[in-house]
This record gives sequence, structure tokens and C-alpha cells, in this order.
Amino acid sequence: MTDPLNHSYYAATAQTWRSRTFEGDLECDVAVIGGGFTGLSAALACAERGFSVILVEAEHIGFGASGRNGGQLIPGLRWSALDLEIEFGRERADALFDLCWRENRVHARIARHGIDCDLKSGHLEAAWTSADFDTMRRDADYLGIRFGYDCQVIAQDDMGDHIASALYHGGIHDRHGGHFHPLNYAIGLARAAEDAGVRIWEGERVNRIVEFADGSSELFTNRAIISADYVVDATDAWTGEVEPDLGRYTVPIMNYNIATAPLPNADELLPTDAAVADSRFVLNYFRLSADKRLIFGGGERYSQTPPRDIAVFVRPFMAQVFPQIADARIDYGWGGAVAVTMNRLPHIGRRGNIFYAHGFSGHGALVTTLAGELVAEALAGTAERFDILADLPSRPFPGGKWLRRPLATLGLLWYALRDRLG
Ligand SMILES: Cc1cc2nc3c(=O)[nH]c(=O)nc-3n(C[C@H](O)[C@H](O)[C@H](O)COP(=O)(O)OP(=O)(O)OC[C@H]3O[C@@H](n4cnc5c(N)ncnc54)[C@H](O)[C@@H]3O)c2cc1C
Repeated sequence: MTDPLNHSYYAATAQTWRSRTFEGDLECDVAVIGGGFTGLSAALACAERGFSVILVEAEHIGFGASGRNGGQLIPGLRWSALDLEIEFGRERADALFDLCWRENRVHARIARHGIDCDLKSGHLEAAWTSADFDTMRRDADYLGIRFGYDCQVIAQDDMGDHIASALYHGGIHDRHGGHFHPLNYAIGLARAAEDAGVRIWEGERVNRIVEFADGSSELFTNRAIISADYVVDATDAWTGEVEPDLGRYTVPIMNYNIATAPLPNADELLPTDAAVADSRFVLNYFRLSADKRLIFGGGERYSQTPPRDIAVFVRPFMAQVFPQIADARIDYGWGGAVAVTMNRLPHIGRRGNIFYAHGFSGHGALVTTLAGELVAEALAGTAERFDILADLPSRPFPGGKWLRRPLATLGLLWYALRDRLG
């Protein structure tokens, strides 16, 4: 299928990857649905533990959010560590910190498999308002005092060392974060998974899962029936299509990116080459590519219809941050669906022998690899670490099949309006 939203810098610079198909009905220990970071990571980790694994991807590896995101590797979850402690208490916050901040499974995978994906270190959170900066400072202090996690607080006057924009009221630089070429990372994971024995079937959609009393399942695709002892549903924004009940926990929000032509003054725009995300509710996020383009994400649309011209839609956000390149040539524009949950924490769990992990709420580039590995751990019988994420609270969006998206949209529009007023 051609995808009008995937005229992306990533697709244009992707490493070669040979697509495979299979014939006839298949059997395996673990069937993984979805070839994004979550599914690939789960498949790889399951194969490493000796399970026979089939991964089925409706389109191609990295077709979903994993192959089209901002490439920003942001430690943690959408909630600050302090807010996690306030809400869940010290013991659970400690466990979440150990998993989501201290573990960096993406770095581990890149190093172990030699994945070539333009990895850079350094992430800057930039404060849109002085109140945002106060909150950021509070959170950074907490991380330092409580966990010895070193983030650098950047005063407004020093922001110029990191970013050539007068917009921001200060920021936090986290050297543990960074950025990468997400599609090439996904392809690297896919190669490692195949080397470990995973059968990856692209261009094949799972239409239905039938569960049996003994816990095993059959996956009905267009061309085959796949029998499996365990299923991993890693379909994120599409989860509702296969499992309507799980789909109630997320709403897909469309988000858009552009990549400029290579910029002669790129290093002046972002002198430390950090990835930057600001603190607006509809945030701007940007970074340099390996060939010195500015990759800029900004603006959300609550309708599923893409803007007629993505460059025209995103350019004003970029021009507001960097007026000096307001007229830069835009070579690529693309978009994707971010699956968000009610509370912006991922929805991870199991129902019988079906495991699921979705709703990373725009904060999935790092934690999806971890989630996939935790699924494999749990499936192999050690669920302690998996349960730390599975115990995060979650609520379905209200409104049933037809009203869920309009109601969620109303809520999101309210927060977006606050951005403009504030
Ligand atoms: C535009 C955009 C920018 C983002 N920027 C960032 C960022 O900078 N930093 C960050 O941390 N996060 C970011 N995110 C979020 C992050 O990309 C996601 O959280 C993460 O990639 C989710 O990975 P996943 O594997 O769970 O899902 P996906 O990558 O979406 O993979 C799901 C896969 O399942 C397949 N599938 C669906 N249904 C079926 C079916 N029935 N049968 C077979 N296959 C199926 C799909 O084709 C897809 O490939 C961004 C997201 C978007 C859309």
C-alpha cells in the first residue's frame, strides 16, 4: 500500500531490508503482531530465550510510529519521577526509576548488534514559560538528590549555548537522552531478530485472534492461520482493530514532521547537537539529522485527515522557534499516529496468554524496547519487572466506539487552547 504520509526523510535514507513472505499455515510458541519497536524487541528477546517466534506485520518493518517518529530518546515516562512518587509512593517510584530512567535498553541493543542508526547523545527539555521552567528545575533537583541522576539545569541566559532561539525560559539538559534514526534502528532490530531465528512476515495483516480454553490461540491472517501458545499484541495505534476491548484504552492523534534541506548553519541552530522538546502541550520537538537537516515536529490534528501540504502545516511552528530559517527549503514532510492513553502512561499487561503493550503517548522511542523485553521475561515465567509497568493504572476512554474519539478530541483541544492563551 502506498502511504501518502510516509514521504519521510527516514524512508528515503533507510537501509536495505529484504521483505519475506511465507506459505501455508504456521505454528510457533510466540506470535507477535506488529513490526515496530515493541513487537521487534519482544520477538528478539523471546527468540533469545529459546522460543520459536513468528512476527506478522501488516505493512513493513517500521511502518507505524516506530519508523516515522521524531527520533528523540527521552529517558523516563511522560510523568516526572517526582510525580510518580507523589502518586504511587516511594517503593513503586524507585522501581519505575530503575526501569525507565536507569535502564537504557536501546543503547544496549545498538551496542550488542552494531546497529547503524546515527545515535547521538543529549536531550534538552526547553521551557515555554517561566512556570514550566520552575517545574522542570524541581523535577531535575529531585532526580539528582533522590537518585544521583545528573541533569544540567540551564538558565534562560545560557540557553544560547544549546539552541539559537530566543523563545525559551530555560531548560534541562539530560546527557542520558539523545536521538537516532528510528527506522534504521527498527531495521537493525529486525535483522537481529531474524539472526536469532524469528520468522518475520511482512505485508500480512492479522484480522482475528481466536483463543482456546487451553490458553493457545490462532491468528487468522489474509492467507494463513498461525497457531501459537502465546500472542504479543504490539499494534499500538491500531490495537482496536484486532482487539476492540484493548482499543478503548488509547486514542490515535495525528502528528507531523518535516525535514529541511541540509543547512549550512545547522550547527549554529543546535550547537550541542541535542534533541530538543519543548513544554507546550502540543509540543515542538526538533533535532539535526546526520546530514545536518533540521527535523522538526509540531502541530497535531485531531481529525484523521492529513493536512493537504504537511510542509505548509508545520513550517509556521518551525519559523516561530527559528525565524532565521523560516524560508528554508523543506525536502520531506510526513506524519503518523501517536497512540495516547487517558493518563499518558503506557497500557501494558496480559490477558491469559495474550500480552499487550501500547499507548506510549509520544514517549515510546526508549521505553518500547524495554517493554518488549519485559514481555519476553514475563512469558518465560519471571513477571516481576513486567508487573512494575503492568501495574500502572489505566482507564478506557469514555464514550464507546463512536463517541470515544470526539470526546477525547474535545479534551485535547482544551489543552491546546491553553497553549495558545498561555
Ligand atoms: C509523528 C510521531 C513522532 C513521535 N516522536 C517521538 C519521539 O521523538 N520520541 C519518542 O519517544 N516517541 C515518539 N513517538 C512515539 C513512538 O514513536 C511510539 O511510542 C513507538 O514507536 C510505538 O512503537 P510500537 O512498536 O508500539 O508501535 P508501532 O511502531 O506503531 O508499530 C505497530 C505496528 O503494528 C502493525 N500492525 C497494526 N495492526 C496490525 C495487524 N492487524 N496485523 C499486523 N500488523 C499490524 C503496524 O503496521 C505497525 O507497523 C512519536 C510518534 C509519532 C507518530
